[in-house]
Amino acid sequence: MRNRRNRDLPQPSNPLMRDPAATPGFPCQNCGSKVQMTIAELLYKPSFACVVCGCVYEKNATASAKALEMLQNVHVAAKQIEELKERYR
Ligand SMILES: [Zn+2]
Repeated sequence: MRNRRNRDLPQPSNPLMRDPAATPGFPCQNCGSKVQMTIAELLYKPSFACVVCGCVYEKNATASAKALEMLQNVHVAAKQIEELKERYR
């Protein structure tokens, strides 16, 4: 007899289809809590600080230039999705 119910909705593999309210982030290497930022902040802020321990992460522009370029595309696409959602609401 199976008692387990899968109440969690399956997460779409495409990050663009996720709830835009869910902010991106990364685990703090110092304390393990999630350092959160909006996509816009991720694109334009030079550094991020962990709100729990205060550890600051500098953005390495050279290493992440390509990733940022991709993120910028994601940002634009996410905006377009938002506009579509508004239109068909
Ligand atoms: Zn931390």
